[in-house]
Parts: sequence; structure tokens; C-alpha cells
Amino acid sequence: PPAAPVQALQHADLAALLPRPGAESDKYRRGVLGVRAGSERYPGAAQLVVAGALHGGAGAVRYLGRPGAEVVRRHPEVLLGDGRVQAWVVGPGSGEATVEALDATLAAEVPVLVDADGLTELARRGPGALAGRTAPTLLTPHTGEAARLLGGAATAERCAAARLRTARELADRYGATVLLKGSTTVVARPDGTARVNPTGTSWLATAGSGDVLAGLAGALLAAGLDPFDAASAAAYLHGLAGRLAAAGGNRLPFGSVHSTVGDRGEAPVTA
Ligand code: AMP
Ligand code: MG
Repeated sequence: PPAAPVQALQHADLAALLPRPGAESDKYRRGVLGVRAGSERYPGAAQLVVAGALHGGAGAVRYLGRPGAEVVRRHPEVLLGDGRVQAWVVGPGSGEATVEALDATLAAEVPVLVDADGLTELARRGPGALAGRTAPTLLTPHTGEAARLLGGAATAERCAAARLRTARELADRYGATVLLKGSTTVVARPDGTARVNPTGTSWLATAGSGDVLAGLAGALLAAGLDPFDAASAAAYLHGLAGRLAAAGGNRLPFGSVHSTVGDRGEAPVTA
């Protein structure tokens, strides 16, 4: 059979994909994202997912997790407790709460993004755990999580050396869209269609950056983008944000010290 196509998302594609609130929009139409992340042990993951979702334009974020009061202290607009959501993010730092969080989330009839601890638990259960899903699932593994999901002889190193193949294999096996993170982020659908993200930067290789990506992609899922578009648009924006932070200095302006962020070998991105 002919190979399924691989595309690089372009800036112009992004403009067409990203939701923009219309005159008649309300918070529900913009999308309510439910978040089951964080735990006593990893309270910060909840904050980062929520921050990613709010920056990603979610109409509202509903948080179900342990440090609820802490999350609201930092993000007062967050809703707590059960209620209607248009998509879920489950797993970042969910620690001891993961089994229950994954059960509740996978049973929901809305799109679900599974990341981090949620992926470790999903790997334990295998692809059959998604068999009853009536709405799409988006998996966002790094190569270590991808190796666990594939099992057998798969290792993080092998998954890193064959990113496109790994993403497609996972998408096929789990019947889910897969965003495989790392030096080159790849998004694949079960039918093998794939996109390679052109904006990545190794400045993103820092603790918590995957949690922000999960929130960002979750917000786009809640807004109604299909998982392939939500994942590729989120990866694109996340990469741009990483470059801007490195150049402008969220902490120290490393990007400008190195004269341009491009010194680290990234392909230039033009608007
Ligand atoms: P996580 O592994 O969940 O913390 O996510 C890390 C984030 O940083 C993902 O979005 C990765 O794609 C990104 N990332 C990590 N290492 C690199 C790298 N060497 N080059 C580009 N992006 C990276
Ligand atoms: Mg992670």
C-alpha cells in the first residue's frame, strides 16, 4: 500500500486551525477542559497543566484533583468539582490518584488526552483499555513512555531512533492519535497520517514543560479541534513559546547570550 503522508504544519495552517472567539462565543462554546492531574506528591503538575490550558484559550478549566485549593489560589478562574466538560486531560503528576482518575476519564464520552502517570497505567492495562471509548483519545508520550506502551523489546533509545515509526505503531495499536515528544515531535493517526512539528527547540527540555503541553493540547481538544489538529497545533505553539522564552529570558536571556536561538541547530521558523 502507498505510504501514508507526512506533513509539516505551516504557520498559515495554524492560523486556520486555531479557534478565535466569535462575537457570539461564550465560555462553553470556547470549551471547558476537565483536568485530573497532580497529587500530594506532585502538586506542581496540576498548576502547569491548568496554566497551559488557560494560555491555550480554554473557556474554562474544571479541576478534579487533590490540591484543589492550591490550584485555585494560583488560578482563581478555575472551577472545582464535577460538571460538564468538553474534553479531559488525565495523568500529569497524578501519582497515587492515577488508577481512579484514568477509570473515570476513559469512561467519559468526550475526547481524552492521556499523559505521564496516566500513560504508565495505560501501558499496564494495554490497548484493550481504550476499546470501549466512544470519543477520540490522544496519547502524549515521551520516548520512555512510548517504550512502556509498546512493551516487548521496545526501549526509549529505539523509540527515539525511529520516531515516525514509533508514533504510527502506537497509534495503530492503541487506536488513538499519538503525539510523540522529544527532539523532533511527531503526531500520528491510526491510519498512519503523520505531522512533524517544525518549531521544536531543546530549550523545552526542562521539567514541567510536558505538563504545559498537555494543558495546551487539552484546551484545543475542548475547543473542538480533532485530536490530530489539536496535538499538532499545540506542539507548534509550545515550540514557539519555548523559543520566545529562551530568546526573551523567562529566567535569563540565554537565547540572546547565544546570539540567536538558531545557534542550537533549529530550523528557522518564518511567519
Ligand atoms: P516531558 O518529557 O513530558 O517533560 O515533555 C518535555 C517537552 O519538551 C516535550 O514537549 C518535548 O517535545 C520537549 N523536548 C524535550 N527534549 C527536547 C529536545 N531535545 N528538543 C526539542 N524538544 C524537546
Ligand atoms: Mg511528562
